[in-house]
Amino acid sequence: MNSERSRELFEKSKACIPGGVNSPVRAFGSVNRAPLFIERAAGSKIYDVDGNEYIDYVNSWGPCILGHGDKRVIDAVKRACDNGLTYGAPTEKEYILAKLISELIPSMEQTRLVSSGTEAVMSAIRVARGYTKRDMIIKFRGCYHGHSDGLLVKAGSGALTHSVPDSSGVPYDYTKNTLIAEYNNEESVKELFHQYGEKIAAIIVEPVAANMGVVLPKDGFLQFLRDITRKYDSLLIFDEVITGFRLGLGGAQGYYGITPDLTTLGKIIGGGMPVGAYGGKKEIMEMVAPVGSVYQAGTLSGNPIATAAGIETLTILKNTPDLYRQMEKQAEKIVYAVKERFENQVCINHIGSLICIFFTKEKVVDFDSAMASDTKRYADYFGYLLENGIYQAPSQYEAMFLSHAHTDEDIHKTCAVIKNYR
Ligand SMILES: *Cc1c(COP(=O)(O)O)cnc(C)c1O
Repeated sequence: MNSERSRELFEKSKACIPGGVNSPVRAFGSVNRAPLFIERAAGSKIYDVDGNEYIDYVNSWGPCILGHGDKRVIDAVKRACDNGLTYGAPTEKEYILAKLISELIPSMEQTRLVSSGTEAVMSAIRVARGYTKRDMIIKFRGCYHGHSDGLLVKAGSGALTHSVPDSSGVPYDYTKNTLIAEYNNEESVKELFHQYGEKIAAIIVEPVAANMGVVLPKDGFLQFLRDITRKYDSLLIFDEVITGFRLGLGGAQGYYGITPDLTTLGKIIGGGMPVGAYGGKKEIMEMVAPVGSVYQAGTLSGNPIATAAGIETLTILKNTPDLYRQMEKQAEKIVYAVKERFENQVCINHIGSLICIFFTKEKVVDFDSAMASDTKRYADYFGYLLENGIYQAPSQYEAMFLSHAHTDEDIHKTCAVIKNYR
């Protein structure tokens, strides 16, 4: 595998972009390689600047559920471009997308469009605080909710403490209202409510955690979160930036039958363009300006090009009834190949079209068990796959994303390569 040109571009980029990349995980830091610079992508394949072809299981970290450059989405974007790129005024498309979202995810009676998942979560939390008139939130260790200040936290010392910043540049004061609980651990949540119950505005959770690898909620865990937030008049926020339109048309909330108060979306909803959204009950969403007192705005929010890509993508998902089942079947084949190759040497967590292979013999159910993975072995496995034309996330702690564009041939090849890992 020749990667001369990628290396050269990486060196040049490092001179004028921090670390040569515009988002840290792209730098391949945890797999000890230089990143590939990508030239183009089509369907299930991605091509680097040295002309190498890979079957892509990153899919831009989730958005490309239809694969790359789906002609219908590209045509919708081109048509939208012909009418100008942005107006900063309301359009019919925004209405169509919001309506479509509320049809597919009924708990989102009203929706605000923004331009990233980070923005969606940041805004949803502001609304939760405005609505409940409380300051504290609970997040789970290992769940990722974008890079806003109050969410870049880690646990402080001691069992029941407030969090501390997990990034320099975040003032302690910005994180002191973020409490940290353990995913899949009801006790840890109960203790926080016991101590701070009347001050907690909301719990924010990835209903299926997909940013510490993939970790599924234990039976009853999401229902427990629903019940305890009701008991204390707090809100439940599902961060469905990954799971929305990934686990099914109704997201994780449809899949598990749990209704949150607020939901955040991103990734798939933009079909490859920068879009995020947050929404929920009308009564709560009407806290947002100009109706209510919670301020939130965006120059390019509801941008007509991004909105066109989103509408087309969701419409295709809606009109392809067997799509989720097909992707799941392909995922199961990969899971089977991994099990055949590694037997009980690894833990493989998967749901729908999301897969994660943890290099640990223990079951991965939370942050600590995820951290027990052997990241060196992952790095070796990653390098082997790459050398054999398969591109998956350059980090142990990310999901493998299947798309509807993966063909039987792609899956067959992937399985064969996995089985031949020495
Ligand atoms: C990716 C992600 C975000 C952040 O979205 P950006 O568009 O990268 O800002 C938030 N929450 C979850 C669960 C995510 O996976």
